[in-house]
Amino acid sequence: MALVALVVAAGRGLRAGGDLPKQYQPILGVPLLRHTLNALRACPEITAIAVVIHAADRALYEKAVAGLELLPPVIGGATRQESVRLGLESLDAAGFDGVLIHDGARPFPPRSLIARIVENLATGGIIPALGLADSLRRAENGRMAEAVDREHLYRVQTPQAFPFEAILAAHRKLAGQALTDDSAVAQAAGMEVRIVTGDEDNFKVTEPADFQRAERHILMTRGDIRTGQGFDVHRFGPGDHIMLCGVKIPHAQGLVGHSDADVGLHALTDAILGAIGAADIGQHFPPGDPRWKGASSDRFLEHAASLVAAHGGIIAHVDVTIICEAPKVSPHRAAMVARIAGILGLNPSRVSVKATTTEGLGFTGRREGIAAQAVATIRLPAGDNS
Ligand code: MG
Repeated sequence: MALVALVVAAGRGLRAGGDLPKQYQPILGVPLLRHTLNALRACPEITAIAVVIHAADRALYEKAVAGLELLPPVIGGATRQESVRLGLESLDAAGFDGVLIHDGARPFPPRSLIARIVENLATGGIIPALGLADSLRRAENGRMAEAVDREHLYRVQTPQAFPFEAILAAHRKLAGQALTDDSAVAQAAGMEVRIVTGDEDNFKVTEPADFQRAERHILMTRGDIRTGQGFDVHRFGPGDHIMLCGVKIPHAQGLVGHSDADVGLHALTDAILGAIGAADIGQHFPPGDPRWKGASSDRFLEHAASLVAAHGGIIAHVDVTIICEAPKVSPHRAAMVARIAGILGLNPSRVSVKATTTEGLGFTGRREGIAAQAVATIRLPAGDNS
């Protein structure tokens, strides 16, 4: 059975705060939407994945999904229902038997849940839902009114799964009617919708506090901790500035290199690559390749971070030490931390930059060049031996 996951990520997510739509906000350095896609990609039942996005978010989307194998994104409509219909229309000719329609803001659908949903998919719809443990009361103006029987009440989650042609026909028939979700569309079109047990881990990120919950969840489920170290040297040459940890610093000399010679970002890139056993910066960006001549080294660091994300991992912490007599690093330290945190999408508290001299000894002591070393701590999913 060919199954497609249609991920709906076209909303504005205003309740979550922040200056980005919530699906693109980083959780431990990885955009929320990418966490969701990683979880779905880990499910063997899912043949392909397509994402419905907002027309204004194309650049954010491309950056968030870099390196992931996905169907082309679909531009959504004014409502979630319209976005789903447009997504289904775009997949109509692809011959999928079934579709799992999923909220982009539910980043942790467990594999066991997807298996349970797919196993039960037949002629009607299947939705995951959970009962209520708390008792329910109506209230009016802050005064408690009568109790509500919770026995027949459920909290509905996604993905909601349907036979492809049937749910597309239902969406076409009911286009423009304001229905709460796809199960409501299916039901209104006369399809039978059945419930399977949902999962508490499959929560939706809506409020700012949900980001903290998501962060805790990731830390609990990325227990395979790896450490990598990197070292780099560039020699001084003619010039009037250097690039150090992504920050331009005026100096009486420049640093010689094929790229921008940012010794700090090179050491850090190697540390991250080392932690995931992905060789070194020279293998990914050969120094003889004209594409990298004068290249800004943030690209190398971004690439290393994208490889970590491709493993379902997160960068827990990075620590860079600059070794030189001059320039003085301390006036630029805060800018360097902010720059690295920005490139990696990390909270600055997870980034350290420090400096030392070598007391006039050795090549750095003779002011012939600058050295840098770095350590990166990466957390990968426990049990993933890739
Ligand atoms: Mg280098």
